[in-house]
Amino acid sequence: MTAAPATDGPATDVLAIAAHRDDVEQTCGGTLLRMAARGLRTAILDLTRGESGTRGSAEERAREADDAARLLGVGWRQALDLPDGAIENTLENRIKIVRVLRQLRPRVVILPYWQARHPDHAIVATLGYQACFLSGLARVEAVAGDEQAAAMKPHRPFKIVYASLYADVRPSFIVDISPFIEQRHTALMAYRSQYANQAQGTGLFVPEEEIRERTFAEARHYGLLAGVKFGEPFVQKEVGLVDDLTLLPVQSI
Ligand SMILES: [Zn+2]
Repeated sequence: MTAAPATDGPATDVLAIAAHRDDVEQTCGGTLLRMAARGLRTAILDLTRGESGTRGSAEERAREADDAARLLGVGWRQALDLPDGAIENTLENRIKIVRVLRQLRPRVVILPYWQARHPDHAIVATLGYQACFLSGLARVEAVAGDEQAAAMKPHRPFKIVYASLYADVRPSFIVDISPFIEQRHTALMAYRSQYANQAQGTGLFVPEEEIRERTFAEARHYGLLAGVKFGEPFVQKEVGLVDDLTLLPVQSI
C-alpha cells in the first residue's frame, strides 16, 4: 500500500486520519466501503505503528493494516512514526501530516472526535484539523523550513468530519453502512494479532465473539437513530444546508 498518486495526479476523495491501526476499521470502515462502492477514491493515514501494543509487533500490524485496507477497498494507506500512546500536537507532527495532505489532496478528511477516553484520539482531532489549515497556506515559511512540504502545492480539504462512534455526543449525521457491515467486520478481524483469541493479553482483550456482538450492536444503535439497519455516526462543526425540504431524509414521526 505504498503506491501513491503524484502531486498533480487525481485527488483523493476521502482521507481518514487516525491515531492507531484498526481505529478506522472500528469507527468509519463501513463509510469508506460505501464511498468506494460509489466509485470514490479513499485513503487511510495512521499516525502510529502500534509499537506499544500488548499483542503483535509493529511489522505484524503493518501487514494486517495492508490486508484490512484491501478489504476496505482503500487505494492508499500509510503509517507515520508518531509515538504510540504519546502523540503530541507539535509543528513537526503537523508538517508530517501536511506532506500527506499535499500529496493526496483529499476533498474530505475524517478525523476522530475531539473528546475521547484515549488521549491519542483527542489529540489527533486537533492535530489533524491544524494540519489541514497549515496545508492550505502558500507561504514557504508557513511550513517551517520543511523543503519537501514547502515544494508541494498548498491544499486545504473542503470538508472535515469527525467520526464519533466512541464519543457520548449526538451525531450530526449517520452514514448507512447496512450492506457493508459484514465486510467491515472482516476488515477488523484482519488484525489477527489483536483480535484472534489467544493467551497473550487475556483479561485485557475482549474475546473474538464479543467483538462482533459489540460492534454490530453499536452499528445497530446508530442505524436506528437514522431509520436504517446499521450506521456509523459523524459530527460536523458546520450547519447543514438544504435545497429541497421534501428530500430531507430520516422520518420525524
Ligand atoms: Zn485508537
